[in-house]
Amino acid sequence: MSQLSVHTACVHAGTMTDEKTKGVNTPIYTSTSFEYLDIEEAVYPRYFNVPNTEALNRKISILEHGEAGLVFSSGMAAISSTILAFLNKGDHAIFQKGLYGGTFVLVTRELEKYGIEYDITPDNDIPFFENLIKPNTRMIYIETPSNPLLSIVDIARISEFAKSRKLISVIDNTFASPINQNPIDLGIDIVLHSATKYLGGHSDICAGAAVSAEEYIKKIRKTALSLGGSLNAQTCYLLERSIKTLALRVERQNQNAQKIAEHLNGHTEIQHVYYPGLINHPGHNIAEKQMSGFGGMVSFELLHTDPVKFQKKLKLIRPSVSLGGVDTIICSSVMTSHRHLSKEEREREGIRDNLLRLSVGIENVKDIIEDMEQAF
Ligand code: PLP
Repeated sequence: MSQLSVHTACVHAGTMTDEKTKGVNTPIYTSTSFEYLDIEEAVYPRYFNVPNTEALNRKISILEHGEAGLVFSSGMAAISSTILAFLNKGDHAIFQKGLYGGTFVLVTRELEKYGIEYDITPDNDIPFFENLIKPNTRMIYIETPSNPLLSIVDIARISEFAKSRKLISVIDNTFASPINQNPIDLGIDIVLHSATKYLGGHSDICAGAAVSAEEYIKKIRKTALSLGGSLNAQTCYLLERSIKTLALRVERQNQNAQKIAEHLNGHTEIQHVYYPGLINHPGHNIAEKQMSGFGGMVSFELLHTDPVKFQKKLKLIRPSVSLGGVDTIICSSVMTSHRHLSKEEREREGIRDNLLRLSVGIENVKDIIEDMEQAF
């Protein structure tokens, strides 16, 4: 069969057929102990090679157009395992400005302990990355659209630049999901996800994923075995089931988010809207080139209303952490994902106190807009 279209891949890719019952779904293999005689490698959950992990590894790698995949117990497990797999003592890495808060904390508080050097770009145009190159630079790490300001980096240009300098290029593709953006097609080496978000999609799973060439996934797995961030079989199954509806959910979230962003843009209660689908977004043209949909995340700054009071007045939209689920939720980055950053670090990252981030769900968009209107 030729390459499966994305809707079909979401449903079928990776499914492990139970030959005995011929059930249509991958069965859940609950064992954590497997016989080891006469096989090449022992099977064990933390070795990332139990059947449910392998089914999901395949599904996610097909969706992200990579040779191989690896699922983790969280997005941060995927991110930390990947960074530590490729960077040795004395190496240097360049990270973009505007990283997810957890990644920022990992980079700025942990890497030094391992003797790994890093720089964070002052802005995200290519020359800012070029200026930071050192003889010991090994990796470029980007996140586009970024969390929470939805800034856009030109993926093809970053990949080209990384290749020309023999650097490993890594992207956190969580905000876009594989439905809106496939960075491997644009030359990126390693794609990472917090599968807790769109891949899981129902705010009931914590997981992560990495997709890349076979050789790179082998290297990540070697480090990951020691770090121990594997995912249990039950959650692997839940995630596999969730991904069956990923394309449908994300398409609806794209449509809803575009409508909400347009409604808020120029609204008398709003100071600024951040959404790459708006033509006044500085990264709109690049986003249009590299994304097939602009995603379900919309951030905005309130002009008059206090952000806490605004969130308390909402009836349908819940003020809660995380993102990517079927329910529309809202959160203040200052109070959640970026709370571990100092005020100066937040200011440098452009995260203001009146910033709110909306993760748009699949509801009827009229109800979401009405809820926000009554809260203004
Ligand atoms: N990357 C992004 C863009 C995120 O938003 C998050 C979590 O919010 C993570 C990574 C970390 O994922 P997890 O919470 O699954 O470890």
